[in-house]
Amino acid sequence: MQGICLLGATGSIGQSTLEIIAQHPDKFNLVCASAHSSVDKMADICQRFKPNRVVMGTLEARDELARKCQGLDISFEWGEDALADIAADDDVDQVMAAIMGFAGLKPTLSGIRAKKRILLANKESLVTAGQLFMDEVAHHDVLLLPIDSEHNAIFQSLPQHAQGAHKKHVEKLLLTASGGPFRSWSLEEMRHVTPEQACKHPNWSMGQKISIDSASLMNKGLELIEACWLFGVTPAEVDVVVHPESIVHSMASYVDGTVIAQMGNPDMKIPIAYGMTWPERITTAVPALDLVSVAQLNFEAPDLERFPNLQLASDAWYAGGTAMATLNAANEVSVAAFLEKKIGFLDIATINRAVLNQLDRHAVTSLEVVFEADHLARQATANIINKKGWL
Ligand code: NDP
Ligand code: MG
Repeated sequence: MQGICLLGATGSIGQSTLEIIAQHPDKFNLVCASAHSSVDKMADICQRFKPNRVVMGTLEARDELARKCQGLDISFEWGEDALADIAADDDVDQVMAAIMGFAGLKPTLSGIRAKKRILLANKESLVTAGQLFMDEVAHHDVLLLPIDSEHNAIFQSLPQHAQGAHKKHVEKLLLTASGGPFRSWSLEEMRHVTPEQACKHPNWSMGQKISIDSASLMNKGLELIEACWLFGVTPAEVDVVVHPESIVHSMASYVDGTVIAQMGNPDMKIPIAYGMTWPERITTAVPALDLVSVAQLNFEAPDLERFPNLQLASDAWYAGGTAMATLNAANEVSVAAFLEKKIGFLDIATINRAVLNQLDRHAVTSLEVVFEADHLARQATANIINKKGWL
């Protein structure tokens, strides 16, 4: 029986993880869970799964949840320290890192330091603190399993028997991208899109922030950086391939001309279950892929002019140091502003670029440096957005 700490239980990845836990009660036990402010959703989770400890983002949310769950033998807690603490709980074997954004960094690191198996959905933590993050993983000899579907696919496509051997035999990683809802739209058409349109992903059902990131291709940019850290490569060794059907989740291209791909219906329960049971596999209740009804798989090159965020991510990687934390923070703030209809869709990339160019980058020598870069970039982005007459 594996004890699970589910960080971000009320989110999209959180819900899919709960489905896998519910399907396999003999294998998994929800020990700890967290949410930020979704009290009602968390109350349902408490009734259904009866975890030992639950952490909410604020004291008010904690108190309201405790009131709604009277009679249940659960420790209701709140705040950052409690969040880091549940990731290191003695009864936890695996930490599912599924908080949205930079807020996921500290609790994920806490799980790493406590030597838990880390199931990494929260790409922003790896993007912002990459070297430190990977150093901690190596230092604590932790099993880090990518949950992001593309990275999970690459993990599955690399030779499992010989750790590190892929460096010698793999020439390129092929990172697929659906292209999002505006794949074939002109810049002029994209200028006036609403958050509702941008959130409507053609293939995946996801949280708001990642849905906007998918539409702007920033998600692919973050994933490019994520792939570089996870698999020890540079952007030059990763080709982004637009594949609108989201059936091929990514690939590894070998020196002999072989390409190994992982395919499946677009449902996050597949990579989640794989991460939770690797090197075994379990059932997920996701329908098997019916290639005859899929009929066609299409591939095309990404358009960096219409989707400049992808180029920005590569630039930030080569700039190095805190540039990646700066870009991530700028993007989190500009996406939130777009969701609040303070800026237009195309402004997201324009603002991201302005902040990336404006701020100095520093070597990432400590976690404090990353937090400082994040803080400064959030301020700089807010300043740009609040400047009168931006729109
Ligand atoms: P959601 O927005 O659906 O859920 C986010 C979760 O994080 C919720 O439980 C939310 O709580 C919690 N949360 C939000 N802000 C904070 C905060 N400041 N502190 C603590 N907890 C917080 O996101 P997704 O599930 O879509 O994505 C989660 C992560 O997984 C992201 O990093 C995303 O990039 C990554 N990912 C997601 C995929 C997907 O298919 N959805 C695919 C691949 C990666 P509350 O409900 O209370 O707000
Ligand atoms: Mg992905």
